[in-house]
Amino acid sequence: MECKKYVYLFKEGNAKMRNLLGGKGANLAEMTNLGIPVPQGFTVSTEACVKYYTDDKKISEDVKNQIDEALQKLEEITGKRFGSSKAPLLVSVRSGARVSMPGMMDTILNLGLNDNTVETIAQLTNNPRFAYDSYRRFVQMFSDVVMGIEKRKFENLIEQAKEENGVKYDTELNSEDLKKLVAQFKELYKKEIGEKFPEDPKTQLIEAITAVFRSWDNPRAIVYRRLNDIPGDWGTAVNVQSMVYGNMGNTSGTGVAFTRDPATGEKKIYGEYLINAQGEDVVAGIRTPQPITKLKEDLPECFDEFMDIANKLEKHYKDMQDMEFTIEQGKLYFLQTRNGKRTAAAALKIAVDMVEDGSITKEQAVLRVEPKQLDSLLHPAFDASALKKSEVIAKGLPASPGAACGKIYFTAEEAKSHHEAGEKVVLVRLETSPEDIEGMVAAEGILTVRGGMTSHAAVVARGMGTCCVAGCGELNINEEEKIFQVKGKTYHEGDYISLDGSTGNIYGEIIKTSSPEISGYFGTFMSWADDIRKLKVRTNADTPRDAQQAIEFGAEGIGLCRTEHMFFNEDRIPKVREMIVAKTTEQRKRALDKLLPMQKEDFIGIYEAMEGKNVTIRFLDPPLHEFLPSEDEDIKALAEDMDIPFEELKSTVSYLHEFNPMMGHRGCRLTVSYPEIAEMQTRAIIEAAIEVTRNKGFNIEPEIMIPLVGELKELKYVKDIVVETANSIIKSEGIDLKYKVGTMIEIPRAALLADEIAKEAEFFSFGTNDLTQMTFGFSRDDAGRFLCDYYDKKIYESDPFAKLDQIGVGKLMEMAVKLGKSTRPDIHLGLCGEHGGDPSSVEFCHRVGLDYVSCSPFRVPLARLAAAQAQIKNPR
Ligand code: PEP
Ligand code: MG
Repeated sequence: MECKKYVYLFKEGNAKMRNLLGGKGANLAEMTNLGIPVPQGFTVSTEACVKYYTDDKKISEDVKNQIDEALQKLEEITGKRFGSSKAPLLVSVRSGARVSMPGMMDTILNLGLNDNTVETIAQLTNNPRFAYDSYRRFVQMFSDVVMGIEKRKFENLIEQAKEENGVKYDTELNSEDLKKLVAQFKELYKKEIGEKFPEDPKTQLIEAITAVFRSWDNPRAIVYRRLNDIPGDWGTAVNVQSMVYGNMGNTSGTGVAFTRDPATGEKKIYGEYLINAQGEDVVAGIRTPQPITKLKEDLPECFDEFMDIANKLEKHYKDMQDMEFTIEQGKLYFLQTRNGKRTAAAALKIAVDMVEDGSITKEQAVLRVEPKQLDSLLHPAFDASALKKSEVIAKGLPASPGAACGKIYFTAEEAKSHHEAGEKVVLVRLETSPEDIEGMVAAEGILTVRGGMTSHAAVVARGMGTCCVAGCGELNINEEEKIFQVKGKTYHEGDYISLDGSTGNIYGEIIKTSSPEISGYFGTFMSWADDIRKLKVRTNADTPRDAQQAIEFGAEGIGLCRTEHMFFNEDRIPKVREMIVAKTTEQRKRALDKLLPMQKEDFIGIYEAMEGKNVTIRFLDPPLHEFLPSEDEDIKALAEDMDIPFEELKSTVSYLHEFNPMMGHRGCRLTVSYPEIAEMQTRAIIEAAIEVTRNKGFNIEPEIMIPLVGELKELKYVKDIVVETANSIIKSEGIDLKYKVGTMIEIPRAALLADEIAKEAEFFSFGTNDLTQMTFGFSRDDAGRFLCDYYDKKIYESDPFAKLDQIGVGKLMEMAVKLGKSTRPDIHLGLCGEHGGDPSSVEFCHRVGLDYVSCSPFRVPLARLAAAQAQIKNPR
């Protein structure tokens, strides 16, 4: 039987094989086929990684044999051999998943070096220093990445060597010093691992490939996957590529470049490089790189060739490219190309520019922008006048735009824990590394002392849309003491600073921020998305201000107005409490009478803000504990207000205490007990609609939504009250006002009996917060505390309250859609849980045939874009 192919030479692949070869492998293959100078190699597929995990974390003999065969072919192609003392083959081993996960997984360079081959390389290059420098880097990387020996231990040895030799920089250590260092590194290895450092390149290779597979499941990769919706079962491919060297003298160099500016989208080559250096030197930010345009002066022929290829790649991929290159003694090589990560502003400009110059269609443009990225466009910038008055204490590189203000913390752990405690935090680091990911996610902004525009901090922050100022060398930082000093002043942990990611300015104070303005490319781009999408986007808004904001962001109506949110004001809450604790209908009616005019005013404000667009208003749905007074002081005040004894009220309050309020006396159950609440709310909704229709001329058709329904008779009971109340007002006002009555589907029983429920409900709105809670049977308020254990143990990959559980909760939804339509073919269907602002959940809603999703105002643009992308991928 022919065995499955797990290993592909670069010339055997192409760009379409991304799922199998990973993004990097597919692009290396594509570049090879395009005739671009790429150091040759092979890719071990993502399927081999999946197999590694199913085979109990072992690389099977089958895969090992295929690696061996590919290696032999690579030796033929390059004319070099593993372990040869004439022409030794050296390779890099890098991860490459389907989508780029910068810095999340492992890389090993210079593999193939041993005590033998290092001497050959020294002779061949006539550069023993280079040979031993590569060797010590390899031993260090292999020990750290493959065997897990702490990096710090090697760095201490380097520091010691520098001290002994009285030098300041690594580059000042000569070949003899480095040779000694290699011996010390190997001793350290033996001490830590209990075995000699492996001299056999094939053993090194299998160990390195295993390490990359293993790194797919390291904690930072798992966090990154969760944040970016990347499934855990994709696996990573591994690219084994022959090495080229940028550190072979002054006609060698290495760099990274983008075909357009990744911060603004401007069409010009953008990047940086270092002469006589290896790739890691550029990314680590230890030396300050030169702008790419300077290469024209240093190595003009290489620059011209580089520009030709860069242009060719952008035309070929029809997208902005992020490229890594190395020049080895005057010869240019491309090590990688990929579609470049970019800020949201750049993404929009590039998409619009490329449509306008005819490179791509509007549909392609719409697919180019990550919906979640739009967030960063919608968030505040500094208030211009406040900024003018503030003093710049230092300036770094404007690595990722936006404004951030918060308390400074010097470790990712501190940043994370203080963020969780409700503080706004700014993470300040000498430089960041992938281990810092959780702190970076928690931070409003990131500030680093070292590193360029392509450093880890810069790339990751841009990807997340978080403000970042990088490479601010003026700061004198002491991470251990948790301070930094600048211009004679010391800033301690917990002090406030502000960062401007668009200018690189740093301010030692709190600066007010202001709302962003949306126009230009955003408007053009979003209008294309709107033309394409079929799914409507509404908003969840409870105030005229939120409604207004949502309209500015393109909301087409209100999908959920939570009336209880209107009752939290200081002047209202006593009246709501009065209503809740009332013992008689009369008492309750008195309280409701006080609430009616306020509620009516609320609705007038909202109808006016929405200018005739649909508004779905939900009846009161609070778990009662949210309103009940708990402090004696509040109970006393309320007792006085109501003119009843304190003790009596206290005992009512304790009688109303519920053990599980989320499953308690809430939603339509309140109306079943106290129909007068529904009467009051119907009155407010209808009277406000009549008033605004008359005064403003808008055609208002209120949608009254009944929450937490699980049974047809329950819905009918409440609906009858609504209809009777509404019709009598409409009749007595002599006006022709239409309204609808529908329900939320948020209890599994309602989904199961949706055909029954649809007999009374004119619309369904899926309340996926409660539906998720009740389907999983865990509390939406508390699940966060233990869900992390589920992620660690790989039981669940993501938070089902943020990203819809399509196979479980989604199955109930699909069933309810089908059943609902079987009774009422034109039933109007929406979703108003938090999932309305999550791209993959929006796509699901599109697929199952909902009419709209409703989400918070700031997520409306995201949902519009996600809906357009869903239509392109699955037209309906
Ligand atoms: C829901 O349950 O999804 C919903 C929108 O209602 P709430 O979050 O107010 O319970
Ligand atoms: Mg709910």
